[in-house]
Amino acid sequence: MKQFIVGPVEMYPSTKNVLEKGYTYFRTQEYGHMVKDCLKKVADMMGASNSKTIYLAASGTGAMDAVVDNCMSGLGKNGCDKALVINGGSFGHRFCELLEWYKVPYDSIDLEWDQVVKAKDFEPYENKGYTALFVNLDETSSGKLYDIGLISDFCKRNNLYLIVDAISTFLADDYNMEKYEIDVTIISSQKGLCLSPGMSIVSFSNRMVDKINREGCPNSYYFDFKLYFRNIDRGQTPFTTTVSIMYELKDMLELIEKSGGKDSWIQIVQDKANYFRKKAAELGLKIPDYPKSNTLTPLYFDDVKASDVVKELRERYELFVNPCGGAMADKLLRVAHIGNTTKEDIDLLLEKMSVIVNELKNKELQGVM
Ligand SMILES: *Cc1c(COP(=O)(O)O)cnc(C)c1O
Repeated sequence: MKQFIVGPVEMYPSTKNVLEKGYTYFRTQEYGHMVKDCLKKVADMMGASNSKTIYLAASGTGAMDAVVDNCMSGLGKNGCDKALVINGGSFGHRFCELLEWYKVPYDSIDLEWDQVVKAKDFEPYENKGYTALFVNLDETSSGKLYDIGLISDFCKRNNLYLIVDAISTFLADDYNMEKYEIDVTIISSQKGLCLSPGMSIVSFSNRMVDKINREGCPNSYYFDFKLYFRNIDRGQTPFTTTVSIMYELKDMLELIEKSGGKDSWIQIVQDKANYFRKKAAELGLKIPDYPKSNTLTPLYFDDVKASDVVKELRERYELFVNPCGGAMADKLLRVAHIGNTTKEDIDLLLEKMSVIVNELKNKELQGVM
């Protein structure tokens, strides 16, 4: 069995077995020091050395939810915000739903599944009183990577808070919070970090910390960031937390350091992505040509059903790739390059995939005759 899934990904053996070594009660100085050390290292890899960084017992969507709830003031609250969302797929759509849920006025730049945001898309939104922009930098539903420089410039020109869901781009592509003046970065455990699902990490610029301390009035009791800010200085959390995943993180950070650090790690993912893309193209598989994250490669099918390819790979060979939802279910599938997979695994996947595609094509032809 091999997972080419965006997350939870195929974990590394030492990370998987980390709890066998035992662990400390979390209300101790020892645990607090470990947390501070791990979060500092993660923040450094995000280019966020001077940022406040907390972690939450929640999957990525829980963190997106808590960020909207804490960072934005909805209608009727102190200093009502007005948000702009880059909505290019199911994760962009999720930010729209969350803003709606918390009654934060917003507009969205709606993009087709294969479109990235361009300079001209921003033109109607200049000087229109927006206070924040939300983007899922890698829109995982189709694997397109937006241009952070372009987005950052728009936010600087218009003095917006820039809130980035970097969940599926972190540790697969370069990312730098301070360089692009990003105010909030959200990541979660089960993607590029290759840990168990259930933990999210959120980093904040100083001006966002100030905004939250000044205006933050979340609906949630459990996810009130002001409590998390106060506790994290000691490496603590207000409530019982994802102790086991924090130990996994410690192990993973050691693995990344051993590989040569963040840049070498990203290079490993990028090499796998390039290797897959080159071989897939040689086999005649179609890869959409929009800018892509190294996290995953989308494959486009117009002669057979992508959903059938996903199903056959799973049922016949225990090879798992991501299907797509909604309108693209029969057209697109996604192959992830994060996690403990090798070039040999990629060879196996592509070999089996071409067998399946050819069989499905022949069936279609016979069906026609
Ligand atoms: C995986 C992912 C999430 C989080 O989804 P959960 O299922 O809640 O972990 C959010 N945004 C993006 C871009 C993702 O890829």
